[in-house]
Amino acid sequence: MKITFHGAAQNVTGSKHLIETGDGFRLLLDCGFHQGHRKEAGRLNRNLPMDAKSIGAVILSHAHLDHCGLLPLLVKKGFTGSIYATPATIDVAEAMLEDATHIQESDTEYLNRHLRKNQNPIEPLYNWDDCVQTMKQFKPAQYAHLGGSWTALSDSVRFKMYDAGHILGSAVIVVEITEKGQKRTLAFTGDLGRRNAPILRDPDPIAENVDILLSEATYGDRLHEPPAETEKIVRQIIERAIKHQSKIIVPAFALGRTQELIYLLHQLFHVKGFPKIPVYLDSPLATRVTGIFQKHRNVFDNQTWKDFDPEKDLPLMFEGLIYARTTEESKRLNEMQGPFMVISASGMMEAGRVLHHLKNSITNPNNTILITGYQAENTLGRRIQDGVSPVRIFNQTYDVKARVETAHALSAHADQAELLEYVGTAKGLSKLFLVHGEARAMETFTGLVSAKFPGISVASPGRGESVEL
Ligand SMILES: [Zn+2]
Repeated sequence: MKITFHGAAQNVTGSKHLIETGDGFRLLLDCGFHQGHRKEAGRLNRNLPMDAKSIGAVILSHAHLDHCGLLPLLVKKGFTGSIYATPATIDVAEAMLEDATHIQESDTEYLNRHLRKNQNPIEPLYNWDDCVQTMKQFKPAQYAHLGGSWTALSDSVRFKMYDAGHILGSAVIVVEITEKGQKRTLAFTGDLGRRNAPILRDPDPIAENVDILLSEATYGDRLHEPPAETEKIVRQIIERAIKHQSKIIVPAFALGRTQELIYLLHQLFHVKGFPKIPVYLDSPLATRVTGIFQKHRNVFDNQTWKDFDPEKDLPLMFEGLIYARTTEESKRLNEMQGPFMVISASGMMEAGRVLHHLKNSITNPNNTILITGYQAENTLGRRIQDGVSPVRIFNQTYDVKARVETAHALSAHADQAELLEYVGTAKGLSKLFLVHGEARAMETFTGLVSAKFPGISVASPGRGESVEL
């Protein structure tokens, strides 16, 4: 078999790995957007590095856009096969892809209205029809712990899904490939979640022997602080906002962090007796995704069922949580006096309503910006996290005077110790390919794996690199 790493190769976006078997079957794992440096990401997104018509099937690990955002482009370019994902992922992917399509169409329309002389109009990467067609090609594949078993893709390839514990519906994909009578198993972590994260189950260990593992390594170079530390940070921030009647801006991913944070706030305010402040969820997409969480309660972990009675006491609803739906409601928040918290996308502060909130709050030292997730290189979020000031928002310069705090424990990604432990649970592993990580994280993690498991060979392939196995 041959594996080509087309994205999330020595970086954290654009997840796309192509597996070609001896008998010519071509399986694509994920088909995600590249994000980050705008020009470079735009170029990579427009040029799909494979012949879409030749792909036999796609398996999607989870519905974050850096894993699924280019599926409609693959379909537009002629992919007619099935896209397999867990039932929850299919529902979430629909919300994410529809939103991405809207953004593409409105951005293109805006740019075409402001063309310079001699500039040709641009086309969106894909349109509504491509998105609708993509959704028709999805097929559900249930988690192993909920009774899902092998799904055959061809005479030589079958797969199974395990819970990855990263976001709602996220899966570790196990692919069994038979070549010349020899069976080999390849597993792909997608993004791996944390242990004891709110709402979701812990990542499931794989029951089968795994010869080859493609593992994410986002936090291969660091440990997250314990959850109690996050509570402490959140409490201090809330007390500070009450004292100064100020605002807390939380740039959060519409899918994942937002729901975990709401769950955490619900617990803090109503179970642990934290001082209460109003919380505004200002993201129509996050609101829609929160509804999808309620629908797929069967994948919640036991602790969630213990903390709440999900029939009466919805874990993602509480008194004082207000869903801002319209742009007017969103704008009104800019004029309002604190204390309150606004949770708004996008998580890396690259687009969306959060930019308006940042613009209005970033120069006031009494306000707080609470970072809850990974900030990729070359994003506004990373610059703010790194202490860069001033920063540019909507082509204007702002001094960063608001306090910037990061709660790493809210991360949806396993930390170094959890990644290492997961590698250790893969029985029979001989080859480990690190994907979805920046160079430093991968180097550190490679050293650790090699020291702890000398029998496993570790590689961090670059974008477009292929290996024959
Ligand atoms: Zn993810």
